[in-house]
Amino acid sequence: MSEYPYQQAAEAIRQASAMIITAGAGMGVDSGLPDFRGNQGFWSAYPMYQRLGLSFVQAANPEHFEQDPLFGWGFYGHRTNLYRATIPHQGFSLLLEWIERYQLDYFVVTSNVDGQFQKAGFAEERVLEVHGSIHHLQCTVPCSNHIWPNTDTLTIDESSMRADQAPECPACHRVARPNILMFGDYSWLHQRTSTQENSFNRFLQDNDQRQLVVVEMGAGSAIPTIRSLSERLGYRHQAKVIRINPREPQICAPHLSFACGAVEALEQIENLLT
Ligand SMILES: [Zn+2]
Repeated sequence: MSEYPYQQAAEAIRQASAMIITAGAGMGVDSGLPDFRGNQGFWSAYPMYQRLGLSFVQAANPEHFEQDPLFGWGFYGHRTNLYRATIPHQGFSLLLEWIERYQLDYFVVTSNVDGQFQKAGFAEERVLEVHGSIHHLQCTVPCSNHIWPNTDTLTIDESSMRADQAPECPACHRVARPNILMFGDYSWLHQRTSTQENSFNRFLQDNDQRQLVVVEMGAGSAIPTIRSLSERLGYRHQAKVIRINPREPQICAPHLSFACGAVEALEQIENLLT
């Protein structure tokens, strides 16, 4: 790829007053996280579920928390431990550096439930987690709208993918579950995400007349929430969208498309900024 699009990306960041970072599953790949691309992607990360003939859609289903909580917590407990242990990649630090260097107002919108933006140092009140967070719990019933941080220690037997115990609701003592929007999920509590959405809408109003740049990373078209949002921001708010995606980089001009991973693209842009 020629350097020219990278120069345009660097220019867009230099000229912006505010930055919106939009991220999908591909964002975590450079940190070593699986992105569950298709059943094969899911099964190579979790071979146990292939033996059981369970797809990602079937494993990420709230019914397990009612029918067999220790099995439900096997998958989510394993992921919680993985995300707690993961060190966010260099791309997160570069984005934070740009925010600091160019005094950018910013907001993060992510479909990831892994909490990696907050872990990297992004402000909690500037993150919208559209599918919720694995680091927060709710009652499985739910008996109330209460959502609380998950501080439980979770031990998973990796040969059976079962947890030794399940977190419980402090009010009714039934099983708790992650506050994540799962597949076929009618009991997800949206209040935490709705509060984040309100903050994001206020951010958009505050920056209505200002130059926006959108940096989108690893957002696929299978569940297009994040991609559509970036495109809408590009259209409605005249934002320049920088789309970084190794497999599906397509976006119309004047937006910019980079067919590579997040770290590689952000480092190339940084080289032209400094
Ligand atoms: Zn309860």
